[in-house]
Amino acid sequence: MKTIKHCFIWIFLLIGLQACEPPAATDDEHAATGQRDQVDLIIAGDTVVTMDAARTIIDNGAVAVDDGVIVAIGTAAIITANYSAKQTLAGENRVVMPGLVNGHSHAAMTLLRGVADDLALMDWLNNYIFPAEVEFVDAEFVRIGTELACWEMIRGGTTTFVDMYYFPDTIAEVVDRCGMRALISATIIDQRSPDAESAPDALRKGIEFIGRWKGRNSRITPIFGPHANYTLNANQLRATRQAAIELGVPISIHISESPFELQYSQDTFGKTSIEMYEEIGFFDGPTIAAHVVWPTEAEIPILVERKVGVIHNPTSNMKIASGISPVAAMLDAGVRIGLGTDGAASNNDLDLWEEMRLAAFLQKVDRMDPEVLPAITVLSMATSGGAEAIGLGDIIGSLEVGKRADLIQVAFDDVHHIPTFDVVSHLVYVTDEQDVVSVIVDGNVLMREREILTIDTDRVASEATALAARIRSALAMRNRD
Ligand SMILES: [Zn+2]
Repeated sequence: MKTIKHCFIWIFLLIGLQACEPPAATDDEHAATGQRDQVDLIIAGDTVVTMDAARTIIDNGAVAVDDGVIVAIGTAAIITANYSAKQTLAGENRVVMPGLVNGHSHAAMTLLRGVADDLALMDWLNNYIFPAEVEFVDAEFVRIGTELACWEMIRGGTTTFVDMYYFPDTIAEVVDRCGMRALISATIIDQRSPDAESAPDALRKGIEFIGRWKGRNSRITPIFGPHANYTLNANQLRATRQAAIELGVPISIHISESPFELQYSQDTFGKTSIEMYEEIGFFDGPTIAAHVVWPTEAEIPILVERKVGVIHNPTSNMKIASGISPVAAMLDAGVRIGLGTDGAASNNDLDLWEEMRLAAFLQKVDRMDPEVLPAITVLSMATSGGAEAIGLGDIIGSLEVGKRADLIQVAFDDVHHIPTFDVVSHLVYVTDEQDVVSVIVDGNVLMREREILTIDTDRVASEATALAARIRSALAMRNRD
């Protein structure tokens, strides 16, 4: 676009007196001629944490973005010498870094936040969550709940999420409008759910959903979300993988989450979960496996070989007492691992800063070794490593020329950032959601100076409050019966 625009300017203004400008002038040439390329956006920061392979950190840096893509990264002096921008986000007291990747969520469950707490997974699911969902969840619930979640995630610096919930078309419409990037699963579960009667019905509807959304919006990847091997049988899991292979899409699923699942899998299939999935050919296509708390020693190499992306959800695993995932051991073995919040009903927020902190602390106390899972490793799990785990490592997760422009600005002037000796340490062990000031996805500014630009937050707040009042009174009525 830039070259074409330049060509037209030259052609019309100089009427052929000068040849069309070559497309790729080097930074030196720019500096020599004083000519600057116009780009859409420049984002500056006292520190730019790129999370590239060399873990490059640039002091007084800036990132130039055009047409949704990162076109240059360097010191602010070099970037501003070579580029002029339609919009600039100033960098004083700010850190620029890749947007956070939430590898596992059930976004609309923000509306069930706090409905039932302090229960074991199967009690929580079977006696509270599944019945509440059948009773209350419809497309309108999903729209409001997902908008609430996107608001919370944008506010906290999350730019990409992998969702699994009902009415996936509605989720996709919300993501389309609010500007985030997402992999959206059509949930497959073998019981009556809010949007399907059974697993075959859900699979059929999921295939239709993927047909409607594949290739429609580059920010949205429709995928399948078979729930787990205790809510689907082997044939249903196989059929879902077959459909995913035929449609060329990944799968997101809960794997090896709880001791219950371990026992169920052993009793039903004669094998622990990961071995069972391997046996039925479930890993024949890209898989995003949420939790993986209880892999056996024999199962970890399967995850490596089959390039399964594991999503660690430390808060949910602690709250439901599912266990402590052997994250450090899996990373040592070469498993790709990202971080997730899980749904707001088992967390109870969508704060990836907290997940980073807890992921680090949980491994350290589990191994009684403070050197395990250092800050930079955890930061990678929330950015570049997370992007790889969900299959988007080539296009997002780090700040590199050619990657899509998904990045955030974090303010470092709050008291808890004074003084700062090590930016990476602060990002993992100190930074809160409230420190995030700007969020950019695909080159579009979704939040500027803490103002959300793509969601009518007043409307969503009042709709969520009204819907919660209906849920509250229905629950009160039911509890009286
Ligand atoms: Zn989950």
